[in-house]
Amino acid sequence: MSMRCAVIGAGMAGILAVIKLREAGYDDLVVYEKADRVGGTWRENTYPGIACDVPSHAYSYSFELNPDWSHRFSPGPEIQAYFQGVADRHGVTERIRFGEELTSCAFRDGRWHLRTATGTTDVVDVVIAATGVLHHPNIPAFEGIETFEGAWFHSSRWDHSVPLDGRRVGVIGTGSTAVQITSALVERTAHFTLFQRTAQWVLPIDNPAFSDAEREDFRADPAGTRTLHDHLSRAFRDAFSHAVIDVNSPRLAEIEAECLRNLEQNVTDPDLRERLRPTYRAACKRLIASPDFYQKIQHPDAELVTAAIERIEPKGVRTADGVLHELDVLVSATGFRADRFVRPTTVTGRDGVDLDEVWRDGLLAYLSVAVPGFPNFFMLNGPNGPIGNFSLIDIAELQVGYILQLLEEIRAGRCREISPTWEATRNLEAERREAAVGTVWVTGCRSWYLDRDGIPASWTFTFDRFCDEMAAPKLEAYELIG
Ligand code: NAP
Repeated sequence: MSMRCAVIGAGMAGILAVIKLREAGYDDLVVYEKADRVGGTWRENTYPGIACDVPSHAYSYSFELNPDWSHRFSPGPEIQAYFQGVADRHGVTERIRFGEELTSCAFRDGRWHLRTATGTTDVVDVVIAATGVLHHPNIPAFEGIETFEGAWFHSSRWDHSVPLDGRRVGVIGTGSTAVQITSALVERTAHFTLFQRTAQWVLPIDNPAFSDAEREDFRADPAGTRTLHDHLSRAFRDAFSHAVIDVNSPRLAEIEAECLRNLEQNVTDPDLRERLRPTYRAACKRLIASPDFYQKIQHPDAELVTAAIERIEPKGVRTADGVLHELDVLVSATGFRADRFVRPTTVTGRDGVDLDEVWRDGLLAYLSVAVPGFPNFFMLNGPNGPIGNFSLIDIAELQVGYILQLLEEIRAGRCREISPTWEATRNLEAERREAAVGTVWVTGCRSWYLDRDGIPASWTFTFDRFCDEMAAPKLEAYELIG
Protein backbone atom coordinates (compact mmCIF):
# COMPACT_ATOMS: atom_id res chain seq x y z
CA MET A 1 0.00 0.00 0.00
CA SER A 2 1.30 3.50 -0.76
CA MET A 3 1.44 5.77 2.23
CA ARG A 4 1.58 9.49 2.72
CA CYS A 5 3.60 10.49 5.77
CA ALA A 6 3.70 13.74 7.70
CA VAL A 7 6.47 14.69 10.05
CA ILE A 8 5.82 17.39 12.63
CA GLY A 9 8.85 19.53 13.29
CA ALA A 10 12.12 20.01 11.40
CA GLY A 11 14.56 19.75 14.27
CA MET A 12 17.15 17.03 14.76
CA ALA A 13 14.57 14.22 14.93
CA GLY A 14 12.33 15.50 12.11
CA ILE A 15 15.25 15.82 9.71
CA LEU A 16 16.34 12.31 10.66
CA ALA A 17 12.83 10.93 10.12
CA VAL A 18 12.60 12.36 6.61
CA ILE A 19 16.01 11.03 5.59
CA LYS A 20 15.25 7.55 6.87
CA LEU A 21 11.69 7.47 5.46
CA ARG A 22 12.99 8.43 2.04
CA GLU A 23 15.79 5.89 2.24
CA ALA A 24 13.16 3.26 3.00
CA GLY A 25 11.20 4.31 -0.08
CA TYR A 26 8.49 6.49 1.50
CA ASP A 27 8.65 9.39 -0.85
CA ASP A 28 5.19 10.88 -0.41
CA LEU A 29 5.98 12.94 2.64
CA VAL A 30 5.72 16.42 4.03
CA VAL A 31 7.14 18.19 7.06
CA TYR A 32 5.14 20.81 8.92
CA GLU A 33 7.42 23.29 10.66
CA LYS A 34 6.09 26.33 12.48
CA ALA A 35 9.29 28.36 12.12
CA ASP A 36 11.10 29.61 9.04
CA ARG A 37 14.20 27.44 9.45
CA VAL A 38 15.17 23.93 10.48
CA GLY A 39 17.06 23.22 13.70
CA GLY A 40 14.54 22.90 16.53
CA THR A 41 16.24 23.55 19.84
CA TRP A 42 19.39 24.77 18.07
CA ARG A 43 17.35 27.32 16.15
CA GLU A 44 15.42 28.49 19.20
CA ASN A 45 18.28 28.69 21.68
CA THR A 46 20.78 31.38 20.72
CA TYR A 47 21.92 32.47 24.16
CA PRO A 48 25.59 33.51 24.60
CA GLY A 49 27.77 30.48 25.31
CA ILE A 50 25.36 27.94 23.86
CA ALA A 51 27.10 24.66 23.10
CA CYS A 52 26.38 20.97 23.38
CA ASP A 53 27.92 19.20 26.33
CA VAL A 54 27.85 15.89 24.46
CA PRO A 55 31.04 15.62 22.35
CA SER A 56 30.37 16.79 18.81
CA HIS A 57 31.69 13.60 17.24
CA ALA A 58 29.00 11.75 19.21
CA TYR A 59 26.32 14.42 18.80
CA SER A 60 26.14 13.76 15.05
CA TYR A 61 23.97 11.51 12.92
CA SER A 62 25.70 8.15 12.57
CA PHE A 63 25.33 8.43 8.78
CA GLU A 64 26.53 12.05 8.52
CA LEU A 65 29.69 12.31 10.54
CA ASN A 66 31.29 15.70 10.40
CA PRO A 67 35.07 15.95 10.17
CA ASP A 68 34.90 19.72 10.54
CA TRP A 69 33.71 20.16 14.12
CA SER A 70 35.68 23.04 15.60
CA HIS A 71 35.76 21.84 19.20
CA ARG A 72 35.29 18.74 21.26
CA PHE A 73 32.04 20.39 22.43
CA SER A 74 31.14 22.66 19.54
CA PRO A 75 29.11 25.87 19.86
CA GLY A 76 25.40 26.06 19.09
CA PRO A 77 25.58 28.03 15.81
CA GLU A 78 27.90 25.36 14.39
CA ILE A 79 25.44 22.63 15.39
CA GLN A 80 22.60 24.61 13.83
CA ALA A 81 24.64 24.94 10.60
CA TYR A 82 25.31 21.18 10.68
CA PHE A 83 21.59 20.35 10.81
CA GLN A 84 20.84 22.89 8.11
CA GLY A 85 23.57 21.38 5.91
CA VAL A 86 22.34 17.82 6.44
CA ALA A 87 18.75 18.87 5.68
CA ASP A 88 19.84 20.57 2.46
CA ARG A 89 22.12 17.77 1.28
CA HIS A 90 19.52 15.07 1.90
CA GLY A 91 16.65 16.83 0.17
CA VAL A 92 14.80 17.39 3.45
CA THR A 93 14.50 21.16 3.17
CA GLU A 94 12.41 20.97 -0.01
CA ARG A 95 9.87 18.76 1.81
CA ILE A 96 9.31 21.26 4.58
CA ARG A 97 6.36 23.58 4.74
CA PHE A 98 7.80 26.39 6.80
CA GLY A 99 5.59 28.75 8.79
CA GLU A 100 2.96 26.05 9.16
CA GLU A 101 2.18 25.25 12.78
CA LEU A 102 0.07 22.14 13.06
CA THR A 103 -2.98 22.93 15.14
CA SER A 104 -4.91 19.70 14.80
CA CYS A 105 -4.35 16.16 13.81
CA ALA A 106 -7.43 13.93 13.83
CA PHE A 107 -7.78 10.25 12.95
CA ARG A 108 -10.93 9.72 10.89
CA ASP A 109 -11.85 6.95 8.45
CA GLY A 110 -8.44 5.34 8.79
CA ARG A 111 -6.38 8.42 7.98
CA TRP A 112 -4.94 11.44 9.77
CA HIS A 113 -6.56 14.77 8.92
CA LEU A 114 -4.21 17.68 9.54
CA ARG A 115 -4.83 21.39 9.84
CA THR A 116 -2.31 24.16 10.32
CA ALA A 117 -2.64 27.60 11.84
CA THR A 118 -2.72 29.14 8.36
CA GLY A 119 -5.69 26.95 7.40
CA THR A 120 -3.75 24.45 5.28
CA THR A 121 -5.28 20.99 5.38
CA ASP A 122 -3.80 17.64 4.48
CA VAL A 123 -4.74 13.98 4.81
CA VAL A 124 -1.99 11.47 5.53
CA ASP A 125 -1.64 7.83 6.57
CA VAL A 126 1.19 8.20 9.04
CA VAL A 127 2.22 10.97 11.42
CA ILE A 128 5.60 11.18 13.07
CA ALA A 129 5.73 13.81 15.80
CA ALA A 130 9.28 15.07 16.15
CA THR A 131 8.31 18.01 18.28
CA GLY A 132 11.12 17.91 20.85
CA VAL A 133 11.29 17.45 24.57
CA LEU A 134 12.36 20.84 25.92
CA HIS A 135 10.48 23.30 23.83
CA HIS A 136 7.98 25.23 25.90
CA PRO A 137 9.74 27.72 28.19
CA ASN A 138 9.05 27.53 31.91
CA ILE A 139 8.58 31.13 32.95
CA PRO A 140 7.89 31.47 36.66
CA ALA A 141 5.46 34.24 37.58
CA PHE A 142 7.85 36.33 39.65
CA GLU A 143 5.93 38.99 41.51
CA GLY A 144 6.55 42.44 40.04
CA ILE A 145 8.24 41.23 36.86
CA GLU A 146 6.09 43.64 34.82
CA THR A 147 7.56 46.60 36.75
CA PHE A 148 11.18 45.83 35.82
CA GLU A 149 12.64 48.80 33.95
CA GLY A 150 15.46 46.86 32.30
CA ALA A 151 15.27 44.19 29.62
CA TRP A 152 13.88 40.82 30.62
CA PHE A 153 13.55 37.58 28.64
CA HIS A 154 13.74 33.77 28.84
CA SER A 155 17.03 32.15 27.82
CA SER A 156 15.40 30.47 24.81
CA ARG A 157 13.96 33.78 23.57
CA TRP A 158 17.20 35.74 23.72
CA ASP A 159 16.77 39.37 22.70
CA HIS A 160 19.94 40.10 20.74
CA SER A 161 19.03 43.76 20.43
CA VAL A 162 19.77 44.22 24.13
CA PRO A 163 23.36 45.31 24.81
CA LEU A 164 25.23 43.28 27.43
CA ASP A 165 28.76 44.62 27.40
CA GLY A 166 29.56 46.72 30.44
CA ARG A 167 26.07 46.31 31.87
CA ARG A 168 24.64 44.68 34.99
CA VAL A 169 23.22 41.31 34.00
CA GLY A 170 21.36 38.87 36.23
CA VAL A 171 20.56 35.25 35.38
CA ILE A 172 18.01 33.18 37.29
CA GLY A 173 18.77 29.46 37.42
CA THR A 174 21.76 27.16 37.56
CA GLY A 175 20.87 24.55 34.93
CA SER A 176 23.05 23.71 31.92
CA THR A 177 21.77 26.83 30.17
CA ALA A 178 22.55 29.27 32.99
CA VAL A 179 25.99 27.76 33.49
CA GLN A 180 26.87 28.19 29.82
CA ILE A 181 25.57 31.78 29.90
CA THR A 182 27.65 32.46 33.00
CA SER A 183 30.82 31.23 31.28
CA ALA A 184 30.13 33.42 28.27
CA LEU A 185 29.04 36.61 29.99
CA VAL A 186 30.95 37.14 33.24
CA GLU A 187 33.88 38.85 31.56
CA ARG A 188 31.72 41.00 29.31
CA THR A 189 29.45 42.52 31.92
CA ALA A 190 30.04 45.27 34.47
CA HIS A 191 28.50 42.99 37.08
CA PHE A 192 27.11 39.48 36.69
CA THR A 193 24.64 38.08 39.21
CA LEU A 194 23.64 34.43 39.24
CA PHE A 195 20.52 33.64 41.26
CA GLN A 196 20.90 30.07 42.47
CA ARG A 197 17.99 28.21 44.05
CA THR A 198 19.78 24.85 44.11
CA ALA A 199 23.51 24.12 43.90
CA GLN A 200 24.59 21.83 41.07
CA TRP A 201 26.94 18.94 40.55
CA VAL A 202 29.46 20.18 38.01
CA LEU A 203 31.52 17.70 36.03
CA PRO A 204 34.76 19.22 34.71
CA ILE A 205 35.33 18.89 30.98
CA ASP A 206 38.07 20.06 28.62
CA ASN A 207 36.97 21.74 25.46
CA PRO A 208 39.99 21.97 23.17
CA ALA A 209 39.65 23.22 19.61
CA PHE A 210 40.52 20.73 16.89
CA SER A 211 43.55 21.89 14.92
CA ASP A 212 43.49 22.15 11.12
CA ALA A 213 45.70 19.06 11.01
CA GLU A 214 43.26 17.08 13.17
CA ARG A 215 40.34 18.09 10.99
CA GLU A 216 42.34 17.10 7.93
CA ASP A 217 42.94 13.71 9.54
CA PHE A 218 39.20 13.27 10.20
CA ARG A 219 38.50 14.12 6.57
CA ALA A 220 41.13 11.72 5.28
CA ASP A 221 40.03 8.89 7.54
CA PRO A 222 36.23 8.45 7.60
CA ALA A 223 36.63 5.02 9.20
CA GLY A 224 38.62 6.55 12.06
CA THR A 225 35.98 9.26 12.50
CA ARG A 226 33.33 6.54 12.67
CA THR A 227 35.32 4.66 15.27
CA LEU A 228 35.55 7.86 17.29
CA HIS A 229 31.77 8.42 17.01
CA ASP A 230 31.00 4.87 18.07
CA HIS A 231 33.53 4.95 20.88
CA LEU A 232 32.23 8.26 22.28
CA SER A 233 28.60 7.20 22.02
CA ARG A 234 29.32 3.96 23.82
CA ALA A 235 31.49 5.72 26.44
CA PHE A 236 28.76 8.26 27.18
CA ARG A 237 26.11 5.57 27.49
CA ASP A 238 28.34 3.49 29.73
CA ALA A 239 29.25 6.48 31.84
CA PHE A 240 25.74 7.71 32.53
CA SER A 241 23.06 5.23 31.62
CA HIS A 242 23.79 2.71 34.34
CA ALA A 243 24.68 5.32 36.96
CA VAL A 244 21.24 6.94 36.75
CA ILE A 245 19.23 3.75 37.18
CA ASP A 246 21.27 2.36 40.07
CA VAL A 247 21.97 4.71 42.97
CA ASN A 248 24.43 2.21 44.39
CA SER A 249 26.48 1.89 41.22
CA PRO A 250 30.24 2.48 41.52
CA ARG A 251 30.00 4.71 38.45
CA LEU A 252 27.66 7.12 40.23
CA ALA A 253 30.08 7.25 43.16
CA GLU A 254 32.90 8.02 40.71
CA ILE A 255 30.89 10.81 39.11
CA GLU A 256 30.21 12.31 42.53
CA ALA A 257 33.88 12.07 43.51
CA GLU A 258 34.95 13.74 40.27
CA CYS A 259 32.47 16.59 40.73
CA LEU A 260 33.48 17.09 44.37
CA ARG A 261 37.16 17.18 43.42
CA ASN A 262 36.28 19.84 40.89
CA LEU A 263 34.55 21.88 43.59
CA GLU A 264 37.25 21.42 46.26
CA GLN A 265 40.16 22.11 43.94
CA ASN A 266 38.72 25.02 42.05
CA VAL A 267 36.69 27.08 44.51
CA THR A 268 39.02 28.73 46.97
CA ASP A 269 36.65 30.78 49.15
CA PRO A 270 35.22 28.38 51.77
CA ASP A 271 31.92 30.26 52.04
CA LEU A 272 31.36 30.26 48.28
CA ARG A 273 32.43 26.60 48.12
CA GLU A 274 29.76 25.63 50.66
CA ARG A 275 27.09 27.58 48.84
CA LEU A 276 28.03 25.78 45.62
CA ARG A 277 28.00 22.36 47.27
CA PRO A 278 25.03 20.21 46.20
CA THR A 279 23.12 18.43 48.93
CA TYR A 280 21.49 15.66 46.90
CA ARG A 281 22.81 12.81 44.72
CA ALA A 282 24.71 13.61 41.53
CA ALA A 283 22.71 13.13 38.31
CA CYS A 284 19.42 13.47 40.22
CA LYS A 285 19.11 16.62 38.16
CA ARG A 286 20.80 16.57 34.79
CA LEU A 287 24.53 16.85 35.47
CA ILE A 288 26.21 20.06 34.52
CA ALA A 289 29.34 19.69 32.42
CA SER A 290 31.52 22.77 32.26
CA PRO A 291 35.15 23.57 31.59
CA ASP A 292 35.15 26.75 33.65
CA PHE A 293 31.97 27.47 35.62
CA TYR A 294 33.76 27.55 38.98
CA GLN A 295 36.49 29.82 37.62
CA LYS A 296 33.95 32.21 36.12
CA ILE A 297 31.74 32.47 39.18
CA GLN A 298 34.82 33.51 41.20
CA HIS A 299 35.54 36.41 38.84
CA PRO A 300 35.65 39.72 40.75
CA ASP A 301 32.65 40.98 38.77
CA ALA A 302 30.57 37.86 39.37
CA GLU A 303 28.27 37.26 42.30
CA LEU A 304 26.42 34.13 43.37
CA VAL A 305 23.18 34.96 45.15
CA THR A 306 21.65 32.14 47.13
CA ALA A 307 18.99 34.08 49.01
CA ALA A 308 15.55 33.33 47.58
CA ILE A 309 14.05 35.72 45.07
CA GLU A 310 11.25 37.62 46.78
CA ARG A 311 10.10 39.84 43.97
CA ILE A 312 11.20 41.83 40.97
CA GLU A 313 11.25 45.61 41.34
CA PRO A 314 11.76 48.37 38.77
CA LYS A 315 15.52 48.48 39.47
CA GLY A 316 16.22 44.78 39.91
CA VAL A 317 15.67 41.68 42.01
CA ARG A 318 14.81 41.87 45.72
CA THR A 319 15.88 38.78 47.63
CA ALA A 320 14.47 37.45 50.90
CA ASP A 321 17.40 38.91 52.89
CA GLY A 322 16.15 42.37 51.90
CA VAL A 323 18.93 43.10 49.38
CA LEU A 324 18.04 44.77 46.07
CA HIS A 325 20.26 43.48 43.26
CA GLU A 326 20.23 46.27 40.71
CA LEU A 327 20.22 45.09 37.11
CA ASP A 328 19.98 46.33 33.54
CA VAL A 329 19.18 42.92 32.08
CA LEU A 330 17.46 39.95 33.70
CA VAL A 331 17.49 36.51 32.07
CA SER A 332 15.16 33.75 33.16
CA ALA A 333 17.20 30.58 32.53
CA THR A 334 14.45 28.68 34.27
CA GLY A 335 14.12 25.73 31.94
CA PHE A 336 11.22 24.20 30.10
CA ARG A 337 7.86 22.50 30.55
CA ALA A 338 8.98 18.96 29.83
CA ASP A 339 5.40 17.69 30.04
CA ARG A 340 4.22 19.59 26.96
CA PHE A 341 4.87 16.86 24.37
CA VAL A 342 3.38 17.50 20.92
CA ARG A 343 1.48 20.55 22.20
CA PRO A 344 -0.08 22.82 21.17
CA THR A 345 -1.31 20.49 18.42
CA THR A 346 -4.64 18.86 19.28
CA VAL A 347 -4.33 15.17 18.54
CA THR A 348 -7.52 13.12 18.33
CA GLY A 349 -7.26 9.39 17.89
CA ARG A 350 -9.70 6.60 17.20
CA ASP A 351 -13.31 7.33 18.30
CA GLY A 352 -12.46 10.99 18.81
CA VAL A 353 -10.33 10.40 21.91
CA ASP A 354 -8.13 13.39 22.70
CA LEU A 355 -4.46 12.78 23.48
CA ASP A 356 -4.74 15.31 26.32
CA GLU A 357 -7.46 13.10 27.80
CA VAL A 358 -5.25 10.01 27.60
CA TRP A 359 -2.42 11.96 29.22
CA ARG A 360 -4.58 13.68 31.87
CA ASP A 361 -3.23 11.47 34.66
CA GLY A 362 0.32 11.36 33.35
CA LEU A 363 2.21 10.90 30.12
CA LEU A 364 1.96 7.43 28.71
CA ALA A 365 3.49 5.89 25.62
CA TYR A 366 4.50 2.41 24.62
CA LEU A 367 8.33 2.42 24.51
CA SER A 368 7.99 6.20 24.20
CA VAL A 369 7.01 5.96 20.51
CA ALA A 370 3.29 5.16 20.31
CA VAL A 371 0.02 5.49 22.21
CA PRO A 372 -2.93 3.04 22.29
CA GLY A 373 -5.86 4.29 20.24
CA PHE A 374 -3.68 6.52 18.04
CA PRO A 375 -2.98 4.28 15.03
CA ASN A 376 -0.06 5.07 12.76
CA PHE A 377 0.94 7.98 15.02
CA PHE A 378 4.49 7.84 16.29
CA MET A 379 6.73 10.04 18.38
CA LEU A 380 10.47 10.56 18.39
CA ASN A 381 11.94 11.31 21.80
CA GLY A 382 8.44 10.99 23.16
CA PRO A 383 7.42 10.55 26.82
CA ASN A 384 9.34 8.31 29.20
CA GLY A 385 12.22 7.53 26.87
CA PRO A 386 15.93 7.64 27.62
CA ILE A 387 16.94 11.19 28.45
CA GLY A 388 19.91 12.49 30.34
CA ASN A 389 23.52 13.19 29.69
CA PHE A 390 23.76 11.42 26.36
CA SER A 391 22.98 12.08 22.73
CA LEU A 392 19.29 12.27 21.85
CA ILE A 393 20.39 11.63 18.26
CA ASP A 394 21.30 8.05 19.20
CA ILE A 395 17.88 7.56 20.76
CA ALA A 396 16.03 9.04 17.80
CA GLU A 397 17.97 6.87 15.34
CA LEU A 398 16.99 3.75 17.25
CA GLN A 399 13.36 4.89 17.38
CA VAL A 400 13.19 5.68 13.67
CA GLY A 401 14.54 2.21 12.89
CA TYR A 402 11.83 0.74 15.10
CA ILE A 403 9.03 2.82 13.55
CA LEU A 404 10.13 1.83 10.05
CA GLN A 405 9.71 -1.82 11.01
CA LEU A 406 6.16 -1.09 12.19
CA LEU A 407 5.42 0.74 8.96
CA GLU A 408 6.61 -2.29 7.05
CA GLU A 409 3.62 -4.18 8.46
CA ILE A 410 1.35 -1.70 6.71
CA ARG A 411 3.35 -1.48 3.50
CA ALA A 412 3.47 -5.26 3.22
CA GLY A 413 -0.32 -5.28 3.44
CA ARG A 414 -0.50 -7.13 6.76
CA CYS A 415 -2.59 -4.32 8.27
CA ARG A 416 -3.75 -0.77 7.62
CA GLU A 417 -3.61 0.50 11.19
CA ILE A 418 -1.09 -0.24 13.89
CA SER A 419 -1.08 0.93 17.50
CA PRO A 420 0.11 -0.57 20.79
CA THR A 421 -2.42 -2.43 22.92
CA TRP A 422 -3.56 -0.99 26.21
CA GLU A 423 -2.45 -4.15 27.92
CA ALA A 424 1.14 -3.96 26.68
CA THR A 425 1.30 -0.25 27.38
CA ARG A 426 -0.10 -0.51 30.91
CA ASN A 427 2.11 -3.49 31.75
CA LEU A 428 5.23 -1.75 30.57
CA GLU A 429 4.25 1.44 32.38
CA ALA A 430 3.72 -0.48 35.65
CA GLU A 431 7.11 -2.10 35.23
CA ARG A 432 8.71 1.25 34.38
CA ARG A 433 7.28 2.85 37.51
CA GLU A 434 8.41 -0.07 39.64
CA ALA A 435 11.95 0.22 38.28
CA ALA A 436 11.89 3.96 39.04
CA VAL A 437 12.37 3.35 42.77
CA GLY A 438 16.00 2.36 42.26
CA THR A 439 16.90 5.35 40.09
CA VAL A 440 18.80 8.43 41.08
CA TRP A 441 15.99 10.71 39.87
CA VAL A 442 13.88 9.90 42.92
CA THR A 443 16.56 10.46 45.54
CA GLY A 444 15.24 13.82 46.61
CA CYS A 445 15.75 16.66 44.19
CA ARG A 446 13.49 18.78 42.01
CA SER A 447 14.06 18.38 38.28
CA TRP A 448 12.35 18.35 34.91
CA TYR A 449 12.86 14.57 34.84
CA LEU A 450 10.03 14.19 37.35
CA ASP A 451 6.36 14.42 36.50
CA ARG A 452 3.87 16.16 38.74
CA ASP A 453 3.53 13.00 40.85
CA GLY A 454 7.29 12.78 41.33
CA ILE A 455 7.66 9.81 38.95
CA PRO A 456 10.61 10.09 36.55
CA ALA A 457 9.29 10.65 33.03
CA SER A 458 12.19 8.68 31.62
CA TRP A 459 13.46 5.24 30.75
CA THR A 460 14.10 3.56 34.09
CA PHE A 461 15.60 0.38 32.64
CA THR A 462 19.04 -0.26 31.18
CA PHE A 463 20.05 1.37 27.95
CA ASP A 464 20.79 -2.09 26.56
CA ARG A 465 17.17 -3.01 27.13
CA PHE A 466 16.10 0.03 25.17
CA CYS A 467 18.40 -1.02 22.30
CA ASP A 468 16.97 -4.56 22.43
CA GLU A 469 13.38 -3.28 22.41
CA MET A 470 14.12 -1.00 19.46
CA ALA A 471 15.90 -3.74 17.49
CA ALA A 472 12.66 -5.55 16.60
CA PRO A 473 9.07 -4.71 17.56
CA LYS A 474 7.19 -7.34 19.53
CA LEU A 475 4.11 -7.45 17.38
CA GLU A 476 2.07 -9.15 20.07
CA ALA A 477 2.18 -5.77 21.87
CA TYR A 478 0.38 -4.18 18.92
CA GLU A 479 -3.11 -4.16 17.59
CA LEU A 480 -3.04 -4.61 13.82
CA ILE A 481 -6.26 -3.72 12.07
CA GLY A 482 -7.38 -4.06 8.47
P1 NAP B 1 16.83 23.47 33.94
O1 NAP B 1 17.91 22.47 33.94
O2 NAP B 1 15.44 23.01 34.13
O3 NAP B 1 17.21 24.54 35.02
C1 NAP B 1 16.31 25.56 35.38
C2 NAP B 1 16.94 26.38 36.49
O4 NAP B 1 16.03 27.41 36.83
C3 NAP B 1 17.18 25.57 37.75
O5 NAP B 1 18.38 25.97 38.33
C4 NAP B 1 15.99 25.93 38.61
O6 NAP B 1 16.23 25.85 40.00
C5 NAP B 1 15.81 27.38 38.23
N1 NAP B 1 14.46 27.85 38.50
C6 NAP B 1 13.30 27.43 37.93
N2 NAP B 1 12.26 28.08 38.45
C7 NAP B 1 12.77 28.93 39.37
C8 NAP B 1 12.19 29.86 40.27
N3 NAP B 1 10.86 30.05 40.32
N4 NAP B 1 13.01 30.56 41.09
C9 NAP B 1 14.36 30.37 41.05
N5 NAP B 1 14.97 29.49 40.23
C10 NAP B 1 14.17 28.79 39.40
O7 NAP B 1 16.82 24.33 32.57
P2 NAP B 1 17.98 24.57 31.52
O8 NAP B 1 19.23 25.00 32.19
O9 NAP B 1 17.42 25.45 30.46
O10 NAP B 1 18.26 23.16 30.94
C11 NAP B 1 17.19 22.33 30.55
C12 NAP B 1 17.76 21.13 29.86
O11 NAP B 1 18.15 21.51 28.54
C13 NAP B 1 19.01 20.55 30.46
O12 NAP B 1 18.76 19.76 31.57
C14 NAP B 1 19.53 19.78 29.28
O13 NAP B 1 18.84 18.58 29.11
C15 NAP B 1 19.20 20.71 28.14
N6 NAP B 1 20.38 21.54 27.85
C16 NAP B 1 21.43 20.89 27.32
C17 NAP B 1 22.56 21.59 27.06
C18 NAP B 1 23.70 20.85 26.48
O14 NAP B 1 24.81 21.37 26.48
N7 NAP B 1 23.51 19.64 25.99
C19 NAP B 1 22.64 22.95 27.32
C20 NAP B 1 21.53 23.59 27.85
C21 NAP B 1 20.39 22.86 28.12
P3 NAP B 1 16.05 24.44 40.79
O15 NAP B 1 17.24 23.63 40.39
O16 NAP B 1 16.04 24.84 42.20
O17 NAP B 1 14.75 23.85 40.32
